[in-house]
Amino acid sequence: KPIGYLPTDDPSMADLVLLNTCSVRDKAEHKMMSALGRYARLKEYNDELLLGVGGCVASQEGERLLRKAPYLDLVFGPDNIAQLPDLVFAARQKNERVAITEFLKRDEYEWIPLEHQSSGQVSAMLTVMKGCNKFCSFCIVPFTRGREVSKPSSLVVQETKTLVESGVKEVMLLGQNVNSYGRDRRGEPKFPELLAMVNDVPGLERIRFTTSHPWDCTDDLIRAFDGRLGKLCEYFHLPVQSGSDTMLKKMRRGYTLESYLHQVEKLRGACPEISMSTDIIVGFPGETESQFEETINLLETVRFDRIFSFAYSERPNTAASRLTDDIAPVVKAERLQRVQALQAKITAEAMAPYKGKVVQVLVEGPSKHAFSPDGSWNGLQLTGRTRTNFVVNFAAGGSSGLVGQLLDVKITKAMQNSFYGELMET
Ligand code: SAH
Ligand code: SF4
Repeated sequence: KPIGYLPTDDPSMADLVLLNTCSVRDKAEHKMMSALGRYARLKEYNDELLLGVGGCVASQEGERLLRKAPYLDLVFGPDNIAQLPDLVFAARQKNERVAITEFLKRDEYEWIPLEHQSSGQVSAMLTVMKGCNKFCSFCIVPFTRGREVSKPSSLVVQETKTLVESGVKEVMLLGQNVNSYGRDRRGEPKFPELLAMVNDVPGLERIRFTTSHPWDCTDDLIRAFDGRLGKLCEYFHLPVQSGSDTMLKKMRRGYTLESYLHQVEKLRGACPEISMSTDIIVGFPGETESQFEETINLLETVRFDRIFSFAYSERPNTAASRLTDDIAPVVKAERLQRVQALQAKITAEAMAPYKGKVVQVLVEGPSKHAFSPDGSWNGLQLTGRTRTNFVVNFAAGGSSGLVGQLLDVKITKAMQNSFYGELMET
């Protein structure tokens, strides 16, 4: 529903500022509160300015946020985006401060249709489900996002086609717990079948997905990596969180170290070149030094290509918030540092063998760097990714016409988190 606003890059020109927020860790929440304070000052110069907060902090705080931030006009939850035009109208015409954050029932939930994109994007995210039914003890997501609702598979396919018509070559299928896709809908395909349907969309080159939970990592999903789905990239992000069974139990993850390792083995059996990454939480309540070391051992055993690691932060309403957050911040910081230092070494070792190899890169656009590793000026440098999700930068000889193409690039140097390469003659 059009409500008569146009986008601007300049906040001081805006009559409506909406912040989309994350509350998965408290740091994100603090950042959002200080950003809100900064935007509130713009109200001194513009009486028309309306300020709104959406996303997970909105969902977590609801009306309380209006009390905490007196300059805030609207609060809307992730399920209420379709009502946004009415909320803005009420705030503007009736001068009301409004908060709507309730979850819709699954049959009331409306997917906002994806429109034709004109941004020239090569890789696009496509939400295929919302919410989470897992209730891991540390996690706020089930409280801020509600229960799982899968998007009808026909709509996923149709939206993939729309993206491809807009020039997109790669889709990243998104869900909090994406591999449980379809479990909430009778007669709908499950996740591995959805992958096959998306794989059939002509013109699409690559498929990725995130985030998976080990609990729903079925043998059918593992088999999807056996090479039959040509567009499915050899990359799997499978958050493990901890290498200690005691911690996994307290985290309510529903698997053991052994069953996780077995899944990794099966995935590597189906697809030996698969690149794996994971999430780690250090300093969960009660984590002893030796339990932490089990996580270190796990990293050494599995040798993920990449990890995302976090210090535990207590979140409201979660089961873990009833435990004492007893690991001192310095201990959490030290454990985080150890995990990251070890992983930096493993990542470097995983990247070294790429040197001299020719890899297929999907070119996404200009890179942030214009200099090659030896310091020489390169004019235009492009960036893209391997199928295994490593970033590759390369000199493009002044041509930006290569964006969106799949090119062969020879890796000449491994940097900390990316490769540098040379375009092969075609
Ligand atoms: N659905 C995904 C993860 C969603 S949140 C899964 O099942 O794994 C992304 C990551 O944030 C989590 O994997 C976890 O490592 C981290 N995280 C979530 N809650 C956290 C908390 N309270 N403290 C620290 N890290 C947290
Ligand atoms: Fe949170 Fe992921 Fe667990 Fe769901 S599965 S509760 S999103 S960590």
